[in-house]
Amino acid sequence: MSLISASVGQGGFNLPADVKTVQRLLNQHNIPPLRSLVVDGIAGQATITAIRHFQSTHIGMKSPDGRVDPGGQTLRKLRDVSPRNTPLNSKPHAETPAARRADQKDRQQFVRAQVRELPITTKIIDAIRPHFQDVRAVVVSGYLNDSDLFWKVNYHWEYLLWMTDHAMTLGVTEKDKKSLMAIRSALLSCKPDPDVGYRTSPTLGKPEDNSTPEQADRRYKVLRQSKQDFKKIVEAANLKQKSPRGAQPFDLAAAPVAHPGSSKHSTGYAIDIQGDNARIKAICKNLGATMTFDEKSHVHVEFKNGVQSSY
Ligand SMILES: [Zn+2]
Repeated sequence: MSLISASVGQGGFNLPADVKTVQRLLNQHNIPPLRSLVVDGIAGQATITAIRHFQSTHIGMKSPDGRVDPGGQTLRKLRDVSPRNTPLNSKPHAETPAARRADQKDRQQFVRAQVRELPITTKIIDAIRPHFQDVRAVVVSGYLNDSDLFWKVNYHWEYLLWMTDHAMTLGVTEKDKKSLMAIRSALLSCKPDPDVGYRTSPTLGKPEDNSTPEQADRRYKVLRQSKQDFKKIVEAANLKQKSPRGAQPFDLAAAPVAHPGSSKHSTGYAIDIQGDNARIKAICKNLGATMTFDEKSHVHVEFKNGVQSSY
């Protein structure tokens, strides 16, 4: 019986289970200068290149076709020349220290250091990462507990206050100035304690807020309304074009913030990815995301049912 049920690689059937088998076999041969393959069941460019490389270096094919057929020569060689007796189901990744380092570096670039992960978050990040090889994308947020989420409300509270003050310096009409002043006093009616330090903090959760849960909840409601009001003024008065700060801070100031009790970030299966939003959305949808939401400053994605990595 063949190890694979159908052809894998260039022009192959590429059934995910077969692709994984071939990827594991290739990794066992560990063929420098190529990096260890991610065993994701996807016959992408890296896998096809590795097959070609194997065909030319191990079989001596003059024009390697990049395909592994059941019962074919490439598969036989992949099985025979087993430099290490690694079982097929062994850890596929990072077969050498160098490959492991390269993989770690790749992950560090893809995931911000502050991002916290539950085991399910880690699983999702590792499953989607190979699909973002050539895409501008960074995971900026993962698991958040309730107090992190209330802290995030404070961050947005301070950020909106800061942008409201800035907006007033942009030569707005008296009417808009009045509306901006109203946002300002609404925000100041529900200050966190302390009332500064969140926006510029390098650490999520610091400073700690001494508000009661009722105060924090009221702040959330005021903030939600204030963001909507702010957005209207920004659009009507063309403030993004007038500001030397550019559009992005206005988008972040107006971005919706989830209610701490209902945010899916407390489940571990929601992550925020920043970068090329349109591509991030499309890739995550393809991978079976149960929710993708473009929040301008980032894309919020949810993988309630895990990642489906076969397309
Ligand atoms: Zn989010």
